[in-house]
Amino acid sequence: MNITYDHSEIVAQNTRMFWFRTPHKPDYIAGQFIEMTLPHNNSDNRGQKHWFTLSSSPTENLLAITTKQAPDRSSTFKQVLFSLQAGASINISEPMGDFVLPKDSNIPLVFVAGGIGITPVRSMIKWLSDTKEHRQIRIIYGARSADDLAFLELFENYGAKTDIILTGGAGQLTAENVMKLGHVTDNTLVYVSGPEPMVESLETDLKAANVSSEKLVLDFFPGYPIT
Ligand SMILES: Cc1cc2nc3c(=O)[nH]c(=O)nc-3n(C[C@H](O)[C@H](O)[C@H](O)COP(=O)(O)OP(=O)(O)OC[C@H]3O[C@@H](n4cnc5c(N)ncnc54)[C@H](O)[C@@H]3O)c2cc1C
Repeated sequence: MNITYDHSEIVAQNTRMFWFRTPHKPDYIAGQFIEMTLPHNNSDNRGQKHWFTLSSSPTENLLAITTKQAPDRSSTFKQVLFSLQAGASINISEPMGDFVLPKDSNIPLVFVAGGIGITPVRSMIKWLSDTKEHRQIRIIYGARSADDLAFLELFENYGAKTDIILTGGAGQLTAENVMKLGHVTDNTLVYVSGPEPMVESLETDLKAANVSSEKLVLDFFPGYPIT
């Protein structure tokens, strides 16, 4: 599917939300992702295709992705993305993935996001907010510093209780913190998204803390170091 770059906005330090127009709005579910292709010469080994969560909500007219640019070691893909001019045509795949809300709106939810792993949480909370559906949600959001945090106002306006853990200081995003801050019970679904090593270690530790596989929904972002 071809989409047209419209504009971008800074949502946190080195982090931008890129907005795109589409000829026909694709059907997607909040929390799903796409693969974006940006053809360019002299590409590095991180390639010309990247996966991104749609951080927009299906209730919004434009599609959005949100990503971070490493200040010194940015990939050629991100260099091209961050210098796009309005009107540029870009190819993306159909949206896919099952990191989405459960149909049963009574299930209590805990979202655990590390760094840029907040993107699917933005999509889902925006969708719930726009459709005026209230659910019991707690967000546990780990980031290196306060400057790296995005979308806090949206979460607050929706009424989702958000605990912030700054991992650049003494804080750590551990299973112990998740169980305690999330008030996780047998009925709770725990969504974990962020850098692959973070999601992997939380998966192991949450299972060890008796959260069963069926209660865990995981979204791994490869290519980022642990937050
Ligand atoms: C389902 C899914 C959803 C995703 N959703 C998102 C999303 O919403 N937002 C998002 O930002 N990403 C998302 N990702 C990850 C995304 O696809 C990229 O892997 C990620 O953004 C890193 O991009 P990059 O390799 O261009 O690295 P950059 O952003 O340029 O750098 C990232 C970091 O990696 C280091 N690094 C990693 N590999 C190398 C290397 N080979 N050489 C030098 N430095 C390196 C850099 O120094 C830097 O610290 C998602 C991935 C998946 C699978």
